[in-house]
Amino acid sequence: MTERRYDIVIIGSGAGGGTVAYALRDIVRDGVRILVLEQGPRLRDDEFTGRELEMAGALYEDGGGFLTADGTMTLAFGRAYGGSTVVYTGTSLIAPERVIRTWNVRGLDHADLARRSRVYMEQNHVHLLPAELINENNQLFVTGCARAGYQSAQFPVNVRGCRGSSLCNLGCPNAAKQGTNRVQLPAAERDGVEVVTRAEALHIHERSVVVRVHEVPAGGKGLPSEWAPGDYRVHAGVIVVAGGAVGSPTLLLRSGFGAHLPRLGEGFTAHPAHILVAEHPRAITNDVGHPKSYYVDRAAEEGYVLETCMYFPFTTAKNLTGFGERHAQLMRAFPRLQMILVLACDHATPGNHVAVDARGRPVVHYRFTEPVIGAFVRATRAAARIFFAAGAVRVHAPSADPPLIEARDAHRIDALIHARHFLPGTISVSAAHLMGGCGMGTSVADSVTDAFGRVHGVPWLRVADASLFPDALEINPYVTIMALADRVAEGIRREARSLLGVQRAGATA
Ligand SMILES: Cc1cc2nc3c(=O)[nH]c(=O)nc-3n(C[C@H](O)[C@H](O)[C@H](O)COP(=O)(O)OP(=O)(O)OC[C@H]3O[C@@H](n4cnc5c(N)ncnc54)[C@H](O)[C@@H]3O)c2cc1C
Ligand code: SF4
Repeated sequence: MTERRYDIVIIGSGAGGGTVAYALRDIVRDGVRILVLEQGPRLRDDEFTGRELEMAGALYEDGGGFLTADGTMTLAFGRAYGGSTVVYTGTSLIAPERVIRTWNVRGLDHADLARRSRVYMEQNHVHLLPAELINENNQLFVTGCARAGYQSAQFPVNVRGCRGSSLCNLGCPNAAKQGTNRVQLPAAERDGVEVVTRAEALHIHERSVVVRVHEVPAGGKGLPSEWAPGDYRVHAGVIVVAGGAVGSPTLLLRSGFGAHLPRLGEGFTAHPAHILVAEHPRAITNDVGHPKSYYVDRAAEEGYVLETCMYFPFTTAKNLTGFGERHAQLMRAFPRLQMILVLACDHATPGNHVAVDARGRPVVHYRFTEPVIGAFVRATRAAARIFFAAGAVRVHAPSADPPLIEARDAHRIDALIHARHFLPGTISVSAAHLMGGCGMGTSVADSVTDAFGRVHGVPWLRVADASLFPDALEINPYVTIMALADRVAEGIRREARSLLGVQRAGATA
């Protein structure tokens, strides 16, 4: 096994890991050696083709089809240089104050998170798209909301030179979307942070990581790893785990930390979501233009959020219930389809957790609670009302019986869309906001880390990603993850002298 030595090793290069690398990049000048290990590949710009199956296979864990243990929900998360920020849509919101208050993490206050969030939002060029770039799929949502009595708001998004190809979730082919792969990681690398891709952290020991560097698989996209394929032991003064809400608990459990951290893997939440489609009598602009420009936030009042969305043909087909001619008819109506994503705000619940199997692979246990099913039902009814108010002729709602609701039945929405039709396993539910598993708190009894991502009882080990959330955020999470990761970097910088023997650790972020 080849031995390597660094001062700081960051595992994962997504919203969390990419931010830590960026926030610490200036101490490389002081002689601090920083390494980022990323198990996914680094793609060349010309490899972002926007082709659905090809890109899903290249950028997502399990091609985007990672299933929970009982098979009732797919979890979408990235596996690439930039992590899930390569495939996110880029909607950028600051955490709601009420949620941070309920998290009740000692040492974490909303004003501090908001201040750090604004710094990264500016860095990522977050802004509202001008009206001329809003397509009809989004406009109809706004119209439907206004007519049906729902208050919509425009999503700030983090694009530069967006060309409206609507392919954000397949990796932007125009380099317009600002993920850590475009902003923070390149800046960190320019300042001397090393990033090694195709480098999977297998095990963490006392101040060292066992890493396997993989070959490019036959026919696989992306550059070869920066290191020769093989096994390495990387020694480090500080190890920052930022593998995401599935990856981080998995690695720590596999490494045996569960023995003294009973909350490790617990508290997993996901904002479970499903796609609703509605058919209009005429073709609308839907698959050109930025896909996600508006939302309705009913999280505080009714436990759900509605977002505009436009999915690709395979994903859409998978989300529609039914088979044969009826299914084909709806797919043929694709140019006339309006889409809304309904997200339920779940909460940390005993039993919903990340575990590992005998081979150390992640197993995510997740069951839909009654409140989550209730939120789905309210959200689906609201979305159906918005569709019809916008002029749709029929709405496809998987939790309705029958799943296709004609405009003439719009007055019966409450009777047709009902919790008794929400049968887990028969409805396609997916989640992309994965949170928890290494939650912040006060002690091992209630959490895995403190408010600066320090793992209880292990001073050289930090967590810096979505797994830190002690409960769901109830809005799109990436900005908050960056803000939390910035705090983790600040903590390392503050303690650099004792952790690494570094004399000068620079100013805080
Ligand atoms: C399709 C999609 C759309 C989204 N849209 C939005 C949006 O519009 N707005 C928003 O706020 N959020 C959005 N999100 C969520 C957001 O992208 C994530 O919450 C965020 O990126 C999570 O950051 P993270 O650092 O926790 O993990 P990630 O960004 O997932 O990064 C984790 C990285 O760690 C790597 N890793 C894991 N384990 C190991 C290991 N053992 N060794 C080496 N590397 C490892 C993984 O390969 C991955 O690259 C979206 C997510 C998806 C999937
Ligand atoms: S809509 Fe804009 S950000 Fe999204 S993939 Fe197209 S160009 Fe990129």
